Amino acid sequence: MMGQQCGGQDRLFYSFNLETYVPQDHLLRGIDRLLDLNELREHLEPYYSHTGRPSIDPELMIRMLLVGYCFGIRAERRLCEEVHLNLAYRWFCRLGLEDAVPDHSTFSKNRHGRFRESDVFRHLFEAVVQRCMAEGLVRGEGFAIDASIIKADANRRRGVPAAQGVDWNDPKLASRAVHEYLQALDKEGEVGATPKNISLTDPAARWTAAPGCPAFFAYSANYLVDVNAGIIVDVEATSAHRTEELECAKTMIERVEQRFDLKPQRLIGDTAYGSAPMLAWLAQDKQIEPHIPVWDKTERQDGSLGRRAFTYDTERDRYTCPNGKYLHTTGQTTNADTVLYRSSTYDCQDCALKPQCCPNTPQRKIARSIHEAARDVARRIASTDTYRQSRKDRKKVEVLFAHLKRILKLDRLRLRGRSGARDEFLLAATAQNLRRMAKWLVPKPPVGHLVPT
Ligand code: SF4
Repeated sequence: MMGQQCGGQDRLFYSFNLETYVPQDHLLRGIDRLLDLNELREHLEPYYSHTGRPSIDPELMIRMLLVGYCFGIRAERRLCEEVHLNLAYRWFCRLGLEDAVPDHSTFSKNRHGRFRESDVFRHLFEAVVQRCMAEGLVRGEGFAIDASIIKADANRRRGVPAAQGVDWNDPKLASRAVHEYLQALDKEGEVGATPKNISLTDPAARWTAAPGCPAFFAYSANYLVDVNAGIIVDVEATSAHRTEELECAKTMIERVEQRFDLKPQRLIGDTAYGSAPMLAWLAQDKQIEPHIPVWDKTERQDGSLGRRAFTYDTERDRYTCPNGKYLHTTGQTTNADTVLYRSSTYDCQDCALKPQCCPNTPQRKIARSIHEAARDVARRIASTDTYRQSRKDRKKVEVLFAHLKRILKLDRLRLRGRSGARDEFLLAATAQNLRRMAKWLVPKPPVGHLVPT
């Protein structure tokens, strides 16, 4: 017999317990068990006045933001609606059924005010990393590093050619992001080459493009990941520019060492991190094995004799060519931190190998980096079995970036300015670590225990 629902919705009193309505295997239960916000109030204490009306509890806002970043709810207005309607979200935020959810405008005020001044998102991120370490998920043996481009909240039509110059004193351009950009420019100056276009909305974002795709304004999310369980141990926002990403890699490695007393034995990265100065910094200054392909432009593709055909003699500081002749140097370095080695014109003029070696010049030249010893270390490592494992481990960062963009929907930023990007990446990385920790550590309840009564 076909049933018909007959209950009304006009009951005035209910016997209701929110706790029993949240499934035992809900992701937020696992996160709640591992999240410790006890120090949050103490950390924020100096940024609140001791008089006046009580503010909205900062822990409530942090919990709501974590819900948003864990479930890809990026818009603050929608986040408030979701927390209002979703019982699990209410439970995680410690809200009762009838408690009011803060207005979305409160988030903007706090995010750009007290939260940023107090660096609370970094404090939260580091507290979660500490917990991951305490649970044994971080070993500190191998770290992987990578950067991923995330679109800025800046329309490409609001960009102007950088060469044209911008009058930043124009009151129409006055905004938080512009003010922050000008402050940073006064402090550090322009990093790297001048970009082709500059955004009037978010000038710190970099004009960038993937090959064959239209250009856009973007930031880079830089992740340093422990390869044991794929926990993000540091995160930073930079403009989408390689020079900044390399400097950021050094900053993150040193910061992790300082904060958590963690220094990896090996660092895994792609060719972008394989420049000679970076390899020298890792191998010689930090004693970290660079499991990174060497950035090498000296090899020839036209079938002529490449640099590998020449043997370097460390003791005598000279190369020997395939014809047994020597290439010497004056020791003078060029602009690019390289030393030139030259063969003798006399040796080359009658050499049978000249057409393959230096067909268009009277002598052969070889450029050797002043950091060549570190490049050789990386080349040696590249032939080991550990390196093959490192290639697999590097995928853990790529998986995290794919998760960030597809599941957490952070393929475009909502906040502007470098500090906006930084806040968003810190919260997203915190959410990713919490999700991973909950999935690794919280046991699944037995089947049949999930339905609320
Ligand atoms: S051309 Fe000169 S450098 Fe090249 S193999 Fe012959 S002698 Fe050596």
